[in-house]
Amino acid sequence: MTKGWRFEGNELKYIREVLDNGFRAGVDGAMTERVEALFAEKFNLPFAVAFNSGTSTLHAALAAFKIGPGDEVIIPNLSPIMCGIAPVFCGAIPVYADVGWDDFLMDPDDVRSKITKNTKAIMPVHLYGQVCDMEAIMALAEEFDLMVLEDCAQCYLGLDAKGRVGGTIGDVGSWSYEASKHLVAGEGGMIACQSETLAEDIRKFGGIGFANLTARSGKVRIDRDKFQNPDWQRHDRVGFNYRMSELTGAVALAQTERMHELVELRIAAGRGYRDLLANSELLKSQYLPVGAVNSCFTFAARFDGIDLGIPWDEFRLAFISNGGDGIYAAWQLISDEPALADDGIGWGETIIAKKLQRRIMQFTSNQCDSVEREVQYDALLKTLRQFGDKI
Ligand SMILES: *Cc1c(COP(=O)(O)O)cnc(C)c1O
Repeated sequence: MTKGWRFEGNELKYIREVLDNGFRAGVDGAMTERVEALFAEKFNLPFAVAFNSGTSTLHAALAAFKIGPGDEVIIPNLSPIMCGIAPVFCGAIPVYADVGWDDFLMDPDDVRSKITKNTKAIMPVHLYGQVCDMEAIMALAEEFDLMVLEDCAQCYLGLDAKGRVGGTIGDVGSWSYEASKHLVAGEGGMIACQSETLAEDIRKFGGIGFANLTARSGKVRIDRDKFQNPDWQRHDRVGFNYRMSELTGAVALAQTERMHELVELRIAAGRGYRDLLANSELLKSQYLPVGAVNSCFTFAARFDGIDLGIPWDEFRLAFISNGGDGIYAAWQLISDEPALADDGIGWGETIIAKKLQRRIMQFTSNQCDSVEREVQYDALLKTLRQFGDKI
């Protein structure tokens, strides 16, 4: 692999600019403002706010929805724990929804069965790069007057069956720049939305409640003569410091410039695995509706080899010895992580998620070219045949 190919855009140039400017905004504005503007443009949304992670974004969005103690937020149980702890940060209750056996995503029918008088929001998670059934989820939101937060940490530019971009359909979209995601800045998050009120609330929540913050501007000091005055009151809200740093902004900006190119690489990787598994008995690709695009954070499949008595980890080890990168297991169901299970904070039985969680196999999609992708496909084909798949 060409070492460092992922960061061969303007990353170093922008980092240099930050240092040369002594962390003050340069002629083109602060890095965080620049990445926000570019992100908003790419997603065709009026507002984007840069954060320090794709977990703090979830917290800020729920807070902007005015979610508090006793309120319920419906989340898919098959998802990383960030989706479960964000409601807990607000004193609210995570309610676990089941997922589809074939698409691995939040099941709208199960969501419906878990709506109570306390439900305030739904958090669809576009897991493994694929957009949830937003048609059905938005219909529920409309019917029951609920807010919708799309967690797109694993989904950049994924499309639903109607061709809508994940993150632009609900009230708020949230993304992550953590080291494993499509776009990488080490850590970092972005939140984008249509509503000016939500954007301003979100920015203030993550920006220590500075009164000068607006939906579009992260500038704290606007008029020096006003600001440097003993009478000046700076804060009109209580907020966290969840801001993206300028150095992170430098890398995030350079990565966002290359969003299409970097996402395309993952989509290409996914396409190859999907074609390979078209007739496999042992591994079933995440079901993709016609017209939808899976942005392939990782390539996810259900290992039905379990039904034939093939242990999950045996298949994984064989894949590795055949030259494969490895296979990631699904995270523990959120309800089963001790952090939440021991306190009994959430509720909601999820029978399919429980069975599916043991079968999920995630394959890497972060190869830099077709030569590298072929190595993975060859290893997978060899492994499947080794276990008797008549592929
Ligand atoms: C990565 C991720 C997040 C946010 O993670 P951070 O590391 O805090 O940026 C949230 N939800 C999902 C589904 C994720 O995969």
